[in-house]
Amino acid sequence: MAKVLFGKIWADWIPIYAWVIDHPEGVIVVDTGETHKTSSKGYLPKWHPYYALAVDFDVKPEDEIGPQLLKIGINPKKDVKKVILTHLHTDHAGGLHHFPNSEILIDKNEFKNASGLKGILAGYLPHRWPKWLKPTLIDLPSSPYFSFNKSMPVTNDGKIMIVATPGHVANHISVIAEVDGLHYFLAGDTSYTQENLINGLPDGIGTNESIKTLKNIQSFAKFNPTIYLPSHDPNVPERMKFKATIQN
Ligand SMILES: [Zn+2]
Repeated sequence: MAKVLFGKIWADWIPIYAWVIDHPEGVIVVDTGETHKTSSKGYLPKWHPYYALAVDFDVKPEDEIGPQLLKIGINPKKDVKKVILTHLHTDHAGGLHHFPNSEILIDKNEFKNASGLKGILAGYLPHRWPKWLKPTLIDLPSSPYFSFNKSMPVTNDGKIMIVATPGHVANHISVIAEVDGLHYFLAGDTSYTQENLINGLPDGIGTNESIKTLKNIQSFAKFNPTIYLPSHDPNVPERMKFKATIQN
């Protein structure tokens, strides 16, 4: 499993999850995890305070999303129609190189904020993105979907939705996949854990926006049976296994 350590003294290793949706219109991957290259000297900008002090990665080549997909019979270079990124932090975009032939969907403003020197100073690694990267830039329309004020369907059947979940970064998005009446909420970094969602504790700095996003998710879960799946929650496998929904 890919792991990341936030804060060398105060935290344990935490997982990095990515998601694959096997949909009749094509396989969709949500987030791509991290690359093992983060362990190579010089890959991470150690001059940046975040990488110097706050974070360490332990990702082996076989932990990367490419080999993990092959293990379950999906060829990332051939079988994946779309890749959606919740945001462009390296532990979500670090596996992009496995998908040279997929359509990559990224929020338009997130892509702008993460690009160039401005992006590097903000802690993104745009210089590590694959050279071929030409994403489909999403401009989420103001079409409400339950509690979310911006949304768009990814598939023609409307079962896979992108919704705006700003806060962790200004243009963070989440994906909701409806399967047999259950809503799998692929939450990226809206909160570290489900407990934090319930307690209204966002991932990172608690801005008004991020707290409002957590309220929106809770309110969505009131009307729809929802399995909440943030990227770094150690309890995700158990919740998937038991199809455990948020209990309001
Ligand atoms: Zn992040």
